[in-house]
Amino acid sequence: MTYHSTHHPSRELLGKFAEGSLSAGMSVVISAHVELCPQCRETTSALEAEATLNWLQNPVSDTAGSEPDFSHMIDAITSEPQSITPEADRFAVNEIHMLEGSVSLPRVLAKLASDGLVWKKMAGGINQASVMLDNETQCEFLYMKPGSQVPVHKHRGNEITLVLDGSFSDEMGRYRESDFVLRNASHQHQPMSDEGCLCFAVQDSPLMFTKGLARLLNPFLQYRFRRATSAQA
Ligand SMILES: [Zn+2]
Repeated sequence: MTYHSTHHPSRELLGKFAEGSLSAGMSVVISAHVELCPQCRETTSALEAEATLNWLQNPVSDTAGSEPDFSHMIDAITSEPQSITPEADRFAVNEIHMLEGSVSLPRVLAKLASDGLVWKKMAGGINQASVMLDNETQCEFLYMKPGSQVPVHKHRGNEITLVLDGSFSDEMGRYRESDFVLRNASHQHQPMSDEGCLCFAVQDSPLMFTKGLARLLNPFLQYRFRRATSAQA
């Protein structure tokens, strides 16, 4: 693969990733990009060293009175491709088979896919397989068939799309393998794919997961939420 990403997570986001302060969903999509992108791998290593040093110098700075929670940091470290362990290789699934052939997955996504993916057909030639990682994000693999088009939409929060294979384009550009595309609530866009595209997408829309407020959301989002919930069962 000679293509180098032209769309990366911001340094600020990589910093939060290195600190282990992101939700599991966000950590996973950034970890997957970092595995595919030498440039962000280098940045993340430097930021991790910095974060570790800071932590060692001020170990109790903002956790006084409570047990420190290392779970996010451990997640981030175990999903970091540079700390490859033999255990990581025992996961049977490391690729997804699509119509046009199979696609190798970044390690952290291979772990998720190993739990089994249930693909569902959506409108416009899109197939979706939801993955539940935490209560703050909605994560899914998305497969756009060649010639497919997502209806015009806006987001309530941030939506990150990591391209795993093929390409898609929207009003703002064209995105290829390993590109990390961030759209926020102010963007209205209509992704389409001529050649087909496999992506991993993460939406951070906490409102969607707040009981009582869910009924205020539009029917499309409620529908997606129900599907995500049933996919978990
Ligand atoms: Zn990058």
